[in-house]
Amino acid sequence: MTKIEIKNLFKKYPLDNKEDFTALSNINLNFHQGELVAIVGESGSGKSTLMNLIGGLDSKFEGDLIVDDLNLRNLPDKKLDRYRKNKVGFVFQSFNLISHLSVLDNVCSALTLSNVPEKIKTKKAFELLTKLGIEKYAKRKPTQLSGGQKQRVAIARALINDPDIILADEPTGSLDSKTTQQILEILKQIADDGKLVIMVTHSEKVSSVCSRVIEIFDGQIVSDTRNKNYKKSRKKKTDNDHFKAEKQHLSFKSALKLAFHNMWTNKIKNFLMAFGVAISISSMILMLSFGSGLTDYVTNVASDYTNPYVVPVSKKSDNMVSSLSTYWTEEEISTLTNELNSYLNENNEDFTISNENIKRGFTMLNLTGTMASIDYSIDGDVKTQSLFCLYTTPPTYNETNLIEGRFSDENEAMFNSFIYDLLGDQVIGKNVDVYVNIAGVEVKQRVNISAVVNTSVFDGILCMYVDYDFLESCVVAQGDILTPTDLYIITENENQTNLLKDYINNSEKYSGSMEERLADMFGEMSSTISIALAVIAGISLIVSAIMILTVLYMSVSERTKEIGVLKAIGARRRDIKNIFVSESFLIGLLSAFVGICLSLISFGVFSIVFNSLLGFAPLSLRWYYFVIAVLLSVFISMLSGLYPSSKASKMDPVESLRRE
Ligand code: ADP
Ligand code: MG
Repeated sequence: MTKIEIKNLFKKYPLDNKEDFTALSNINLNFHQGELVAIVGESGSGKSTLMNLIGGLDSKFEGDLIVDDLNLRNLPDKKLDRYRKNKVGFVFQSFNLISHLSVLDNVCSALTLSNVPEKIKTKKAFELLTKLGIEKYAKRKPTQLSGGQKQRVAIARALINDPDIILADEPTGSLDSKTTQQILEILKQIADDGKLVIMVTHSEKVSSVCSRVIEIFDGQIVSDTRNKNYKKSRKKKTDNDHFKAEKQHLSFKSALKLAFHNMWTNKIKNFLMAFGVAISISSMILMLSFGSGLTDYVTNVASDYTNPYVVPVSKKSDNMVSSLSTYWTEEEISTLTNELNSYLNENNEDFTISNENIKRGFTMLNLTGTMASIDYSIDGDVKTQSLFCLYTTPPTYNETNLIEGRFSDENEAMFNSFIYDLLGDQVIGKNVDVYVNIAGVEVKQRVNISAVVNTSVFDGILCMYVDYDFLESCVVAQGDILTPTDLYIITENENQTNLLKDYINNSEKYSGSMEERLADMFGEMSSTISIALAVIAGISLIVSAIMILTVLYMSVSERTKEIGVLKAIGARRRDIKNIFVSESFLIGLLSAFVGICLSLISFGVFSIVFNSLLGFAPLSLRWYYFVIAVLLSVFISMLSGLYPSSKASKMDPVESLRRE
């Protein structure tokens, strides 16, 4: 029965100087099932070229090459892939096993490309391995086998799809004479089982065993002899249950498995790469949690000092520091009152602000450290400590702002918890001497500590609170008047509060409480910092992407041979692409995992450092940061994998196989 019919076949290779090189010229041959054909000829005579054409690795030729009614000339890639997968099995001189896969997985690879279920695959593979006497090596890697064993594995791989044609390009070229005999026996048995076996050989010993010897010289057939002494082996034809899954392709799971196997063989390289990406990913997570940490902190602080019936107002100034203490004149206060009243009126709010509703407050920042201080005595020793800040107790404060004690009265003061550092644990009821210089008016006064207050400013500096009336009386006693820096409008309901706050926040001239202003300042600062960090993290992600691209690109070059082998056993472009895309997907996942671990560790470290330095850690993790990290990492690595994987998929199988 004619299996292959070759008519007037020419194969020309284009050369650089525009002339073609004719590797095969006017080939006319018929092959039949059950034949064991030896193709002999000098090196360079065109043997491999002919094998590659018959094997469907190359369909660019002139003439006809018809296999079972299918003409291979200019056959589209898809049909050619299917032809290779189902009709032919390849055996190579250098075995071409995939080194990172076990013997079993190598043998199964053609079935994996057809998405055959695991059980059936393993059963078939074991049948073949047993038949070839190497079942006990199933779990080994190819590097742990001898040449003869490797070639048996390669033969098992070629047979697993139950192809009609076995093509063996110098299958015994790398084997010693004893192993050569054994492999030859196996190939002969395959032919006698009814398959067409075509093999290229240099050895006369080998060709003498074959049923037919074809000699090629300079791309032409010079002789075609049948061996009259050829005897079919007496062994009975072994019947395999035929399993063909022609329409199926490499599944996503199998592509992942192949990719994982390969990554595992290069664990260190891949881990280092993932670690590099992970550094960018974790710095991104930290940056995000720093941004939200600052915002959370500031929002908490601001909300701690909010009272629904009090609207703090201060004068806006270009300068952050001076805006913390800008004096209100009585004229400005009445302007403000008028503006607010007409706004309330416009909004149909039946409420009028009078002098009664306006409480005054005073904030003095003592940035030079000379304008305000306290003298306190410990065991008779008098010591001096400068005050960072002198406040009048804002009406927004309530009991929850007190750590201990009660709100101050005349001749009393409250401090933030820095006072514990000066006086020890027992501070309530102790006396200190306060010295304050307000715009040239010096006030000296002994006060009694009534409470310790939770301030919005952190506790590494000393802050003092006194009553506005008390401070005013002290200043008046020195023959001067106190001008307020802060105003508080006391409202009757929250609606009025919200209306007034809206007006103030939208105004050019006024702003809210000091806490609100601090919150704004921190918010601005944290968004600036976040943007700067985001840019840095972004740059490092680009660096990571280039790194992944380089590594994958190199991996494609290193695995040229493997790609050729996969194509020879029927892998489509898509399948090759999927394997590499899966690999970049896995790298993305691994990077994200390592990145999340790194970020958790550094999160812990930074929390400890911030807590010991500032007493709080402006860091908040959100669950979706991890989702973002995973998505971004996978996206970046898959993006970087696009070019290498498309390069891999476009490789010419013949060239890939020729590569040493
Ligand atoms: P053999 O297998 O008999 O040693 P080949 O079939 O590999 O020979 O090569 C036959 C001829 O075709 C050689 O002269 C070789 O240099 C040439 N050849 C093979 N591949 C190419 C190619 N891709 N481009 C140009 N010439 C090629
Ligand atoms: Mg060759």
